[in-house]
Amino acid sequence: RQERIMHVGELERRYGAQNYLPIPVVLSRGEGVWLWDDQGRKYLDMMSAYSAVSPGHSHPRLVAALVEQAHRLAVPSRAFMNDKLGPLMERLVSLTGLDKVLPMNTGAEAVETAIKAARRWAYQVKGVAQNQAEILVASGNFHGRTTTIVGFSSEDAYRQDFGPFTPGFRILPFGDLAAFEAAVGPNTAAILIEPIQGEAGIRVPPAGFLKGLRQLCDRKNVLLILDEVQSGLGRTGKWFAYQHEDVLPDGVILGKALGGGLLPVSAFVGKAEIMDLFNPGSHGSTFGGNPLASAVALEALNVIEDEQLVTRSAVLGQHLKQRLLAIGSPAIRDVRGLGLWVGVELDPALADARRVCERLAQRGVLTKETHETVVRFAPPLTITRQELDWGLDVVAETINEATP
Ligand code: PMP
Repeated sequence: RQERIMHVGELERRYGAQNYLPIPVVLSRGEGVWLWDDQGRKYLDMMSAYSAVSPGHSHPRLVAALVEQAHRLAVPSRAFMNDKLGPLMERLVSLTGLDKVLPMNTGAEAVETAIKAARRWAYQVKGVAQNQAEILVASGNFHGRTTTIVGFSSEDAYRQDFGPFTPGFRILPFGDLAAFEAAVGPNTAAILIEPIQGEAGIRVPPAGFLKGLRQLCDRKNVLLILDEVQSGLGRTGKWFAYQHEDVLPDGVILGKALGGGLLPVSAFVGKAEIMDLFNPGSHGSTFGGNPLASAVALEALNVIEDEQLVTRSAVLGQHLKQRLLAIGSPAIRDVRGLGLWVGVELDPALADARRVCERLAQRGVLTKETHETVVRFAPPLTITRQELDWGLDVVAETINEATP
């Protein structure tokens, strides 16, 4: 197996840009919560492709929807209407409680869409002078990798040598409501924020933060735009993380799990007041809203509903968190998250997160470290308690062993 990793991995190493540091496993098949490498060895997936594979790998209903639609019509472009996009839009509106949808492909594209929407709203509705609109974002944010988006990242590694960047953003401490209150001014168009930060290491803000932002935005006529690319569609034990604090944002960004783990599908969903500012020619994408993506996305939402994956995430998520807390290793500094989305922060002096992930992979459990100190657990929402327990036994053993 080691030889094979060298050989196939060598192709990626030799011909690929080295913008990732993958765990040394060469995957070639997936089914449900399980993955197999090219030598037939089986692994439990405990990260779901950064939460994109909520219904599990190659869910039969989603594969069927994909194949059927691929035979019918895949990509006609939005030069024409198609018979699959409307039903998806209607469903997203009813799920979110918002009014209208602009479909895209990747999370970053939908974030860019939200930024354009907020700026247009600032100029056309709020009356901000041209080019003066400001968007407030949070430290530790992750919204994607375009030059505009990394321009307001607080991670130097994401920005290094990629400037100049798009102006008009201000970074404030995540979770610090007073800092946001102090920063809002007449030119503030929007607050753009993840309700729970994923890439930062599953950082949960203090209770009331989101509600406080909502009230602030209402008072000061500012849009609240939530990036639920990673937290949305059941991951936290509710359809949307904003439902934990009973708020409604003005716009929500969806991606990842919207594609059912098969395709890139994203969307910006917002109130009519914002969405109606888009007019022909103002925005678009060759692939956004195509019937192949739309058919799979609609079926992905059906699967989440029919298999009660949101409740499952809430119930099994508690179990996941309790069992991770129960490991009780001195190397564990924090266990945090909601639903089947939990980060374990390790003390780097006692246990190396990367090393833990490599050891886990050797033992048949796949996940990935984030920010050197956090190991993330985000299995497909279809995981059974038994499968979860099997994985957690391996996790406990590995973390205990890594601790001197
Ligand atoms: N927003 C959030 C909250 C994310 O976690 C990610 C991806 N990790 C993105 C946006 C970007 O999505 P994509 O990689 O599909 O562009």
